Amino acid sequence: MRSVDEHRAAVVALISAALPPVTVSLSDALGRVLAADVVAAVDLPGFDNSAMDGYAVRSADVVDASAASPVVLEVDGDIAAGDTRRHVLRPGATMRIMTGAPLPEGADAIVPVEASDGGVSRVALNLAAETGRHLRRQGEDVRTGDVVLRAGTHVGPGQVALAAASNVAELSVAAKPRVSIMSTGDELMLPGQSLQYGQIVDSNSVMLAALATASGADVMGSGHLNDDAEAMAALLGDMPGQPDLILTTGGVSMGAYDTVKEVLSGTGTVEFVKVAMRPGMPQGAGVVGERRTPIITLPGNPVSSFVSFHVFVLPALRALAGLDPEIATIESVAAQGWSSIEGKAEFTRVVVDADGARPSGGQGSHMLGALADATHLAVVDAETTQIRPGDTVHLLPLVGQDWPCP
Ligand code: AMP
Ligand code: MG
Repeated sequence: MRSVDEHRAAVVALISAALPPVTVSLSDALGRVLAADVVAAVDLPGFDNSAMDGYAVRSADVVDASAASPVVLEVDGDIAAGDTRRHVLRPGATMRIMTGAPLPEGADAIVPVEASDGGVSRVALNLAAETGRHLRRQGEDVRTGDVVLRAGTHVGPGQVALAAASNVAELSVAAKPRVSIMSTGDELMLPGQSLQYGQIVDSNSVMLAALATASGADVMGSGHLNDDAEAMAALLGDMPGQPDLILTTGGVSMGAYDTVKEVLSGTGTVEFVKVAMRPGMPQGAGVVGERRTPIITLPGNPVSSFVSFHVFVLPALRALAGLDPEIATIESVAAQGWSSIEGKAEFTRVVVDADGARPSGGQGSHMLGALADATHLAVVDAETTQIRPGDTVHLLPLVGQDWPCP
């Protein structure tokens, strides 16, 4: 039996080359992963400017100002945000200035409008302002040429804002691998159809499409095949659309009618193995067709398929996108004990809250109820048979789980 690490390495090794990065506009960059560092094209702030609506002053001119004894200055005019003229502040005078407007030469502080009588031609200022008060200095946040975002960073709203402010309009991001998904089995029906006795809904193809999409892949198509060896051989041998990766579910275990295994064993390019894990023991991986497209044949049990996606497919997608295939686990503590099978890695579906991790419910590989409640997979190694309350546990976050609730 293969270990999880061995099989993962075999799957990742199917990816012979990463897809080249693509350049996208900032509005298309959300959710993508940076393929290159982002370098600031401008200083931030780009020029000394006011942090308040108020009056630009030479601090020496208002050193004695107080509420009891305001200092009165002549107002030499207004500077609004967007004013591109270069103003010079006369000693003994002030200029009305708005937030974000460039500081006139000679000024070294702002007295906020709240500390004045709001005068337009003359103003009484009732607060002293030390040098630098309410100023934003050029380059205090970012300098031209600074790396503001590192390759490998997920682009969220904050990253988009920083790139835009840095005057970078396009980003180089990891390509979206194109994935075809195929469920197999005579018992499967589309969601919403009426089911005859013995039939079930094909939940795997929508689940895998959702997982792949949430992982940053481009799902070209997902469909269903009956356990018909001829049709399957024809389709898998020449998959339409030239995907970068094919995923199948079902038909890879030990039974009769395990058609995926039957069809692809014969090609000599796909290996079927047992992996020492629960759920997800029967696995297959290899390449198909003239283009030698990588294929991962996942088990049919929904939870096995779901876990296998996290353990094998996600690293392959990351390798295709040019990212590190390794997925870091996070540490937590067990909020309650549970037992785990000996000799196999176990991926327990858990809920994590303030107390730590606990199994989310029934752990059978066909049990989707506990899956939908789970937030993480706890990775329990092959040697561990008992998790005790308070033990350190290693968790894989579930793909798509960090999406916000509406
Ligand atoms: P198999 O690996 O084809 O023997 O399938 C194992 C179990 O998973 C069986 O109970 C199947 O009915 C179930 N199964 C297979 N494919 C799917 C699917 N696409 N959606 C939901 N359940 C499935
Ligand atoms: Mg089947």
